[in-house]
Amino acid sequence: MANEVCFRTLEYLKQPWELEEYKSRGGYEVLTHILKNKVGPSEVVETMKASGLRGRGGAGFPTGLKWSFISRNAPGQKYVVCNSDEGEPGTFKDRDILRYNPHQLIEGMVIAGYAIGATVGYNYIRGEFWEEYERFEAALEQARAAGFLGDNLLGSGFDFQLHSHLGGGAYVCGEETALLESIEGKKGQPRFKPPFPAHFGLYGRPTIINNTESLSSVPVILKEGGEWFKELGVENSGGSKLFSISGNINNPGVFEVPLGTPFSELFELVGGMKDGRKLKAVIPGGCSSPVIPGEQMMDLTMDYDAIQKAGSMLGSGAIVIIDDQQCMVKMLDRMSYFYHEESCGQCTPCREGTGWLWRVVNRIENGKGRQEDLDLLESVCGKIAGRTVCALGDAAAMPVRGMLKYFQEEFQYHIDHKRCMVGAGPTKGLG
Ligand code: SF4
Repeated sequence: MANEVCFRTLEYLKQPWELEEYKSRGGYEVLTHILKNKVGPSEVVETMKASGLRGRGGAGFPTGLKWSFISRNAPGQKYVVCNSDEGEPGTFKDRDILRYNPHQLIEGMVIAGYAIGATVGYNYIRGEFWEEYERFEAALEQARAAGFLGDNLLGSGFDFQLHSHLGGGAYVCGEETALLESIEGKKGQPRFKPPFPAHFGLYGRPTIINNTESLSSVPVILKEGGEWFKELGVENSGGSKLFSISGNINNPGVFEVPLGTPFSELFELVGGMKDGRKLKAVIPGGCSSPVIPGEQMMDLTMDYDAIQKAGSMLGSGAIVIIDDQQCMVKMLDRMSYFYHEESCGQCTPCREGTGWLWRVVNRIENGKGRQEDLDLLESVCGKIAGRTVCALGDAAAMPVRGMLKYFQEEFQYHIDHKRCMVGAGPTKGLG
């Protein structure tokens, strides 16, 4: 018996993604129940609303509310699109879902299609995720063969076709309207909004776009109930959440904990700082979110409101933990270069401003900074933030402001001494 358990455990670890393994854990039971019992689509949407699930891709918009914007009975084609273009630096949770639990995402997408009356879905997968794309394709094959995708699902009369779409590797295609443009075969540039995708989405048709983790949460929410999920978390932040935790720590990885969990508990989960170093700062929600000093972070809980009150954002739940040996100027130099590179160039404040930010930070990093550069950085941020077509402009400005707010003395030291104050010395930067 012991051998059998051991064998099954090893098999599970080898093939956790397979259809049979998923079904052995209750997979596709929720979809089967909904289709066989003709559960009302509005009941599905209401349960999602009651769950308090907020979009896990970064924006935090309530998922059930988003679904309710689409009129199920409106004539014509509607679409469900999954955003698996996980590109925010520091985020690596959605790729684990694609690798190890693709059927839960498929089940969630079919249920979403049923709820809004969509018969076609696309999973937009980041261009670099070739293995995850192949894994998802294999899972699609299994689901089709088992009758969970295709026409007349389980004899219910409901059709749902699901396809994956591999992106081209552009960060901006994580923005939902750029993603739609990319699926349509156009240059991946964000659209002006409104109209929003619920009214004018893929090919101009009503579309919901949700993150991989959000859609994967759907089956368990409908199985256990919206209230159950909501009560896992705290007020205004329902449920549990996957956190991608990286940086100068002993045990980086993906951790699922209830929203509202104290950061200090997560810090223990990841085994604390590497080599006994001191916690200096934390980026709590991906590289776009402003940095928070380590001491302050230790008093915070990981939920949308608490992190926002502290002047940052929970974002995609990508936590980067930074030790006292890291130079914040060098770090910002790399981050600013990233946004400069990834700007799609459509609007002037972002196209020109991200280049300005990077060039100024880069010269400070390389010992060529001027005293007026600190004011210049703030001024350029003010000319970008809130003035662009999509959030990439804000994403470029926020880390600069965060670094200047809490670590300005490091920038000042670079300007005064032409070197770094944390012992790493001058660096060549990227330019
Ligand atoms: Fe493109 Fe930047 Fe404008 Fe977004 S903000 S549309 S990335 S130029």
